[in-house]
Amino acid sequence: MNAIPKTATHDILDHPFKLSIGGQLLDADATFEVYNPASNAVIAHAPEGSAAQLDAAVAAAARAFKDWSRLPWETRADYVTRYADALEARKDDLITLLTLEQGKPRHTMATGEVEAAIYWVREVAKRTLPVETIEDTAEHVVEVAHVPLGVVGAITPWNFPVLLGLWKVAPCLLTGNTMVLKPSPYTPLTSLFFGEIAQSVLPPGVLNIVSGGNDLGQQMTEHADIAKISFTGSTATGKRVMASGSGTLKRITLELGGNDAAVVLDDADWKSIVPTLFWAAFGNSGQWCIAVKRLYVHSSIHAQFVEAFVEYARQQVVGDGMDPATNLGPIQNTMQYGKLLDLFADVKKNGYKVPLGGTIDESIPGNFVPVTIVDNPPESSRIVQEEPFGPILPIIAFDDVEEVIERVNASPFGLAGSVWSGDRARGIEVAKRMETGTVWVNEIHIHGIDIPFGGHKLSGMGVENGHEGLCEFTNTKTYMFSK
Ligand code: NAD
Repeated sequence: MNAIPKTATHDILDHPFKLSIGGQLLDADATFEVYNPASNAVIAHAPEGSAAQLDAAVAAAARAFKDWSRLPWETRADYVTRYADALEARKDDLITLLTLEQGKPRHTMATGEVEAAIYWVREVAKRTLPVETIEDTAEHVVEVAHVPLGVVGAITPWNFPVLLGLWKVAPCLLTGNTMVLKPSPYTPLTSLFFGEIAQSVLPPGVLNIVSGGNDLGQQMTEHADIAKISFTGSTATGKRVMASGSGTLKRITLELGGNDAAVVLDDADWKSIVPTLFWAAFGNSGQWCIAVKRLYVHSSIHAQFVEAFVEYARQQVVGDGMDPATNLGPIQNTMQYGKLLDLFADVKKNGYKVPLGGTIDESIPGNFVPVTIVDNPPESSRIVQEEPFGPILPIIAFDDVEEVIERVNASPFGLAGSVWSGDRARGIEVAKRMETGTVWVNEIHIHGIDIPFGGHKLSGMGVENGHEGLCEFTNTKTYMFSK
């Protein structure tokens, strides 16, 4: 770990960050502090949108919906493409801002997130939802169309604020809805910035961004003029969203937490997959819904695997994301850092074997947590059962495939999982039995515009991306025309 992380600054922080409401860039009466997690220094003050400003944003989105929803699909697609161009022109600033407020390394994760997000906006704009004729008889024609919902409320988390925000914006606008987006109070700057960029290309009110506290999120879930909530965040908050959305019978998509397992079978070419599995677990310092959080390795190869994994992990540099030498940035906020302190204390108290890391040095400024590997803790331990959302991974031995499938599926979460085997067909058989929304065999973390993504069980409801993801921003409308 770098001894004392540098306090990074950049010109983009001189930018005045404003709410986007009805095409205007506005201040709020109050502001809140935004921190650089590499130093915990205040880097900006974000506008704390009021309840009245949220109402104004919803009203602006509702007004804009009238014209926006009636534009031809191709016209909206052109707007969304132009938005991708406008984002591209400010890409470097977005990347820098992302590192400064979120912590992830600028040259790898932050660049990757922003580039992927812009690619998403551009590619989503090429998709369509054509009207389907399902009957055409002598008597009548039956057509099924997908019509926009109205105003969509987007609520996003702090781990991938740009990608997860724009994953919602692009399909929402393309399908004819308008949006009010509320970013996490921990990472508001990138969303305020991409909102401002949107105002230069989109009609007023089509995309509104209101930063502020959790109470704004609650207000959105109860708002009578918001038709749908597209939420990404924790399972605990997801439950609240669902409960308070019920009053107005909102459409709700929930992308929630996970405790993803990777299962390495005895016939896997395990040496070659150590780096892939390392990054699958520790990328973004483990602050990733689909990070590998439980790594099950067959007992015949477990000891050698742990040794090689630790060796690879030891070479990674934890530090300030603005430093090009850094592979892994800090934990994004002190709340999450506190949760990790507690989890590390539990690992220590129980005397689990820790071949790498294990102690958080609280004297270092910034929320730095060392890469930590826990060797074969019991299945019932907190580090196996909970979603740590940090750079700590249990590598667990198993003997029997049936038994490991049971352990994997015993989790209340069901986001994603992976199986690693020298025998593809055998890997697929195991993967098919995983109770998760996504399973990978001998690959991991592949996403795509046309690949639906969503969680089972406590990991969520509905999907994002793909045809199904587009449909979630619409109501199905059936037309029957007599001949
Ligand atoms: P969080 O639930 O604390 O916050 C998410 C958002 O909800 C924030 O914008 C917050 O302000 C808002 N919010 C808080 N209380 C609210 C309420 N009562 N009503 C409405 N909105 C409210 O989650 P987080 O800590 O920001 O994110 C981490 C979690 O997100 C992890 O559990 C992670 O697994 C999950 N996550 C899931 C996915 C996925 O696609 N499944 C992706 C990324 C993160």
